[in-house]
Amino acid sequence: MSKSFRFIPQYTDEELHDIQTKGLIWTVHQAEKSPQYKELFKKAGVTADDIRSLDDLQLLPTTDADDLRAGYPLPLCCANPKDIVRIHSSSGTTGKRKILSYTEKDVQMFNTQMARCYEMAGLTPEDRMQIAVGYGLWTAGAGFQQGSELFGMFTIPVGPGNLQIHLQMMEDMGSTCFGATASMALLLAEEVERAGIRDKLKLRTIICGSETRSEKMRLAIESKLGLKDSFDIGGMTEMYGPGTAIDCHCHTGLHYWADLFIIEFLDPVTHKPVPDGELGEMVVTSLRKEAVPLIRYRTHDLACRVPGKCECGLNMPRHSAIMGRSDDMVIFRGVNIYPGQIAEVLSKHHEIGSEYQIMLSRDEKAIDHLLLTVERAAGQSSDNDENLARAIEKDMRLQLMVRLEVAITDPSTLPRTFSKSKRVVDNRH
Ligand code: ZN
Repeated sequence: MSKSFRFIPQYTDEELHDIQTKGLIWTVHQAEKSPQYKELFKKAGVTADDIRSLDDLQLLPTTDADDLRAGYPLPLCCANPKDIVRIHSSSGTTGKRKILSYTEKDVQMFNTQMARCYEMAGLTPEDRMQIAVGYGLWTAGAGFQQGSELFGMFTIPVGPGNLQIHLQMMEDMGSTCFGATASMALLLAEEVERAGIRDKLKLRTIICGSETRSEKMRLAIESKLGLKDSFDIGGMTEMYGPGTAIDCHCHTGLHYWADLFIIEFLDPVTHKPVPDGELGEMVVTSLRKEAVPLIRYRTHDLACRVPGKCECGLNMPRHSAIMGRSDDMVIFRGVNIYPGQIAEVLSKHHEIGSEYQIMLSRDEKAIDHLLLTVERAAGQSSDNDENLARAIEKDMRLQLMVRLEVAITDPSTLPRTFSKSKRVVDNRH
């Protein structure tokens, strides 16, 4: 990646180390301006002055969504309220909303991280960006739009509204890029195919946010729309919003901005770092956030750091797609298992559907058993169940290092659920 970028900075390892060290020291001092953080530091027996190097990160306490809720309405706020220019709030939580406040500089950095993502996706100011993500308290709409404007693109802020308006705007405005959730992108792709209007569109790139796309979904979206490429963008409200990470054209993980955030990958139980390539909980420390700096914030999202350097040449670390939530973790015979890992192994077997159930039990000798029930795909003969079950068991043993039992059931017999945690039935207690 020798070409020069307008928004993506290029650093050596030494420069990144230096930026992270200075950013961490600045951030802990900034955090101490909040009585809430001051109290958390005190409990952990640490002060900002104790933090002098990246190794000292370990001295700091971890923080959680509970800390954000506890400080409602302006949790962990380290800025003078007169310097706050905006708030956002995240979805999907019970009880009090998590409100994140932003200074003018925070908003600028948010826009910049989005502009970097557009650059990474190979877009130019000549592109026309049509936005289908949510506006309002959500960060997505504001981030996609302001980043697009900063990048200099012709911006079409439709929002998550109806598909017909999207198709009309896409055709009339000549949109070349579409920013949406993966399911919205798939809906659009199916509608374009059904209506046979692919040739009337100039769409070349899609940027998918907020949900993990399966490989099947990616291929369907790209082929139905005849795209040049499509990308997965990462982010969360706590980290400004979307745009904290995106894959490059090599598609070997999402590059994240190591000059803006330190991401630790920790074992969710022991809180010890896991090696590169192994699944851990992403724990984030911000390096430049003014209003709500993050100190070892537990995201509960599971991913691994991709080992080595990317072939694209950009010296920014990568993390894998989010593989699930640490809250869904199952400990079976001393091994941490995440439903996402099981789903990934299952996705390689086309003879079965995508639904599954994990049943844990304990026998009279106090030995744990894991029964994984999966559905035979429609149209497949039950004659092969035995072989298929053994093949999946073998695959699980190789991939997850555990011995479990697989049962195959008829299609559409497992309960349908939107919550991953409901897939696990634990009868060990
Ligand atoms: Zn790359």
